[in-house]
Amino acid sequence: MAVTELAAAPTTLRGVGPTRAHLLGRLGITTVGDLLFLLPGRYEDRSQIVPLAIAAAHGEGLVRATVVRHEFFPHGGRRVLKIVISDESGAAVLVCFGRNVLAKTFPPGSDLLVFGSFSFRYGEIQSSSFEAEHVRKEQKPPGLLPVYPLTDGLTQRILRDLVATVLASPAAQLEDPLPPAIRTTEHLMSFADAIRTIHHPASLDAAERAFRRLRFGELFFFQLNLARSAMIRRRSSRRARPTRTRHLTAGVRESLPFSLTEDQETVLREIVTDMEQPWPMNRLLHGDVGSGKTLVALLAALRAIERGEQAVLMVPTELLARQHAWTAAAILSQTDVNVALAIGAAAAPARRALREAVAAGEIDLVVGTHALFSADVIYANLGLVIIDEQHRFGVSQRRAIMERGTSPDLLLMSATPIPRSLALTAFGDSDVSAITHLPPGRKPIRTRLARMGNEERVYRFVHKELEAGRQAYFVYPAIDEGGTRGLRSAAEMAEILAERFAPYTVGVAHSRLDQEERAATMEQFKNGLIHVLVATSVVEVGVDVPNATCIVIEHAELFGLAALHQLRGRVGRGEFQSHCILVYQEPLTDDAKERLRVLYQSNDGFHIAEEDLRIRGPGDLLGTRQAGFLRFRFADIRRDMELMLNARRHIAAILRDDPDLTQTEHRPAAAELTRAESAASEADR
Ligand code: ADP
Ligand code: MG
Repeated sequence: MAVTELAAAPTTLRGVGPTRAHLLGRLGITTVGDLLFLLPGRYEDRSQIVPLAIAAAHGEGLVRATVVRHEFFPHGGRRVLKIVISDESGAAVLVCFGRNVLAKTFPPGSDLLVFGSFSFRYGEIQSSSFEAEHVRKEQKPPGLLPVYPLTDGLTQRILRDLVATVLASPAAQLEDPLPPAIRTTEHLMSFADAIRTIHHPASLDAAERAFRRLRFGELFFFQLNLARSAMIRRRSSRRARPTRTRHLTAGVRESLPFSLTEDQETVLREIVTDMEQPWPMNRLLHGDVGSGKTLVALLAALRAIERGEQAVLMVPTELLARQHAWTAAAILSQTDVNVALAIGAAAAPARRALREAVAAGEIDLVVGTHALFSADVIYANLGLVIIDEQHRFGVSQRRAIMERGTSPDLLLMSATPIPRSLALTAFGDSDVSAITHLPPGRKPIRTRLARMGNEERVYRFVHKELEAGRQAYFVYPAIDEGGTRGLRSAAEMAEILAERFAPYTVGVAHSRLDQEERAATMEQFKNGLIHVLVATSVVEVGVDVPNATCIVIEHAELFGLAALHQLRGRVGRGEFQSHCILVYQEPLTDDAKERLRVLYQSNDGFHIAEEDLRIRGPGDLLGTRQAGFLRFRFADIRRDMELMLNARRHIAAILRDDPDLTQTEHRPAAAELTRAESAASEADR
């Protein structure tokens, strides 16, 4: 009945044929019900009648006046109608460009209700953009009218009529899925009232309360869904935890050249505690660039290995895979742990040998790219999956991994901090650990800005660092000139810089070089055989060379905030004072100025992430691959954090009492979850 009507195509409405249905489709309206959720961008205030004398000062308004006479004036070879109107306060002119027919509709003496934007021009009060109608007997001002987003071929009037039709049908008596107790404590109007109110509010205040109700509801069900899946994970997939058979951690920790920071200890404890639970871990570890997440990950892996499980560390690039494999090998060199590197570039026989060893359980830790999870790789006893730089992987990739067999523990690591509001949504079904302090002894990186054309000073500065025995990165947005004319590029600048810095050596790394060549260059840079590394943003992720103290990013205006902060994080990893020089080319867009300003003023990844969210919005920040399911109709997580926390509090209380939502007052909520789920899987297809 009602529900099916809302699901019906718009063509089932009177006045909507295929053409209009197509136009509605452009506004995202594909069902009758979608019309109910069409959000007005603003309201026209037709709640009171404005005296003509002050209409111009008012701007947009409703007036009631009588037609005094018609006049015509020449314009572009034609005659244009002017309708002179007056009320008790004064007179005004309606300029009817292309609408001379109105002379017939509104003869002198007509009483009119006019809504328009008025201004004072040519010595009179004028409106050339107006709607007028004859005053009907006893007619009251219509109130606040919704202004909907339009597309060519549709008018406000058409949309208003369609929405009114749907609102008037019994189908608009929508059931409210929110538990009544919450509505009461939060002072929320019912769902049906809220929908009605956003289209026809009695006041702007009522409209605001209706929007708040809709935002709350949306966040409530989004969070309820996350909370339920976290609960189901804890409950259903019980697995036996093998007991410890090897003792490795203590020895490894003793052999480290430093001790863990307090934050590292804390997050490691959180992770290990999870790993002892009978359900699979799902935890996000975030922290600033250089905060030491890799070591935590490796110690977590060690914990799995101690009880005879295999661990994998998955990273987005082969460069990073090799680096982490080196790090792991170095840290674990005193033990009998077997570490292997799995990358797409390996030769077939080597790959087969690796596969066999993994399947036989001879390898304890595999570090690699997504090649780790190609269909032919079978793990003897996979206990822990760590995904570094998780933002480079999609949700579906993550899910595919988790669905491989034994429900292993999952540790997601983020390249940079994630703002709290994003963590609570994009990772709302995960537990979250954060490293908020860098290892001791780090000197904050000094960031400077330089206009392109002033780089001789920059080069002199880098030269001094080289003379002091340090190393430097130069980063460019493009590999070579092809396609990106006018930009400096890595290939071109590598030659120029090689000449400039001779006898110091210069190497190049970008994605068009083959893996072996790039790996060799990186290794030489790491060992200090190459002094200056010229690269594209391939060095963005994770590369760790503590002796490099300078990074020069040219065309900094073209990089995103998160990328710039990641790039800057390539330096400042050791005991030496480090420098980041952002070379920009003018003219700068407002956004680019804003990004450079944020970066210049702050070294704090948590702050920068918040700013990035503010400037770019959640979709862009997460990357297109993850943004899809964060599309809200009403809510905006940048604004609605308080509402979201509120919703989460209520949800925790509800699930404590009624985890399966079987109580009568929770049944509509349970039904709403099921409905949303099937809608989502429909959209997936
Ligand atoms: P990120 O969090 O960006 O992945 P890394 O794990 O690459 O950071 O660590 C950055 C650097 O800090 C590495 O050189 C690492 O050896 C070093 N490091 C990690 N933990 C500590 C510590 N507790 N004390 C000193 N240095 C540390
Ligand atoms: Mg890292």
